[in-house]
Amino acid sequence: MEKVSRKDLLKSVKRVVVKVGSGVLTAENGLNMAVIDDLTADICSIKEKKIEVIIVSSGAIACGLKKIGILKRPQSVSQQQAMAAVGQSSLIMAYEEAFDRHGHKVAQVLLTRDDLTHRRRYLNARNTLFTLLSWKIIPIINENDTVVVDEIKFGDNDNLSAMVTNLTESQLLVNLTDIDGLFDMDPRIYKEAKLIKTVKKIDRKVSRFASSIPGFLGTGGMASKIKAAQKVALGGVPTIIANGLKPGILKKIFMGHQEGTLILPKDAALCTRKHWIAFTKSPKGEIVIDRGAEKALVKHGKSLLPSGIKEVKGRFRLGNSVLLISETGKEIAVGMVNYHSTDIKKIMGVKSVDIESILGFKHDDEVIHRDNLVLANQMDQGGDICHLRV
Ligand code: GLU
Repeated sequence: MEKVSRKDLLKSVKRVVVKVGSGVLTAENGLNMAVIDDLTADICSIKEKKIEVIIVSSGAIACGLKKIGILKRPQSVSQQQAMAAVGQSSLIMAYEEAFDRHGHKVAQVLLTRDDLTHRRRYLNARNTLFTLLSWKIIPIINENDTVVVDEIKFGDNDNLSAMVTNLTESQLLVNLTDIDGLFDMDPRIYKEAKLIKTVKKIDRKVSRFASSIPGFLGTGGMASKIKAAQKVALGGVPTIIANGLKPGILKKIFMGHQEGTLILPKDAALCTRKHWIAFTKSPKGEIVIDRGAEKALVKHGKSLLPSGIKEVKGRFRLGNSVLLISETGKEIAVGMVNYHSTDIKKIMGVKSVDIESILGFKHDDEVIHRDNLVLANQMDQGGDICHLRV
């Protein structure tokens, strides 16, 4: 495998997302203060290099469990949510005290996926984070576990950290877990397990390695870290998965040491807007398109016009994202619609010039503009020209 200079790669990093997993942060009787102190000291030294740091921290539920004195994660959702409420306050207090000793301030930011799927709220969250960074305050983000329900969940903090990396246009994601990185088998079971130092492309083999390494305290395991890295790579950003329990790990990473597993970014990246459409928004329905439209989209990079639509499935609103399906049932793209599903049903199959006479109004000629459309192969390989930046 071609040698990648970590030092070169790190040169372009001006903003980094550091995700810290539950397994790193919690010890037998609660929070692992030694680890928090160590990470804090490292983050402060990174900040001295004029690199902005955003922390995505798990550990609320695990910390809550320890605080209340319960051994096993409860099954009931309400108990888990209550547990997160108990733990989150201790978690943020621990960071606050640790950073305070270095003269740095932190801010707690709790997000749900819903906060990021609406463009306005997404941009608001972004502005708030940028404001905090401009004030030299370190945002500490977690999922708002206490209120979150399945439909508006990120799923796990690996996924949240990928979305935050895109949201904040960071140039690196460091995912700190309780093992040294990606191995070809579970190193906690097999002594001969080999660490993979660099992943150029996330293929089936890499995914197979990852799924053989489950997580314990947190929710994700290695598979969700690799999935998050894949999303980040499609935004043109590398990920380093490393062991957060190793003293001085962040410092070493930023000195260019070969720590953990480096997952390289795609050369042809999606812009942040398309990345958001592809990965942050969750599709609310489906539109079946005819062969002509499929060709126009895939081969010629065109927008989706009403004339190419054959069927509309589900109920969705203007600004929602939907899947585009071919006549043969293949997923072709995901895109953000300019019309409500009931209106698309009325205009499907007709020419754009007739939209106004049928609906009594017209937003756009296109049902989905190409700037708001991400093809399935781009979700896999990246690439495309972006006309809109945000
Ligand atoms: N948000 C959860 C917590 O703070 C962790 C979820 C995860 O680690 O994936 O406990």
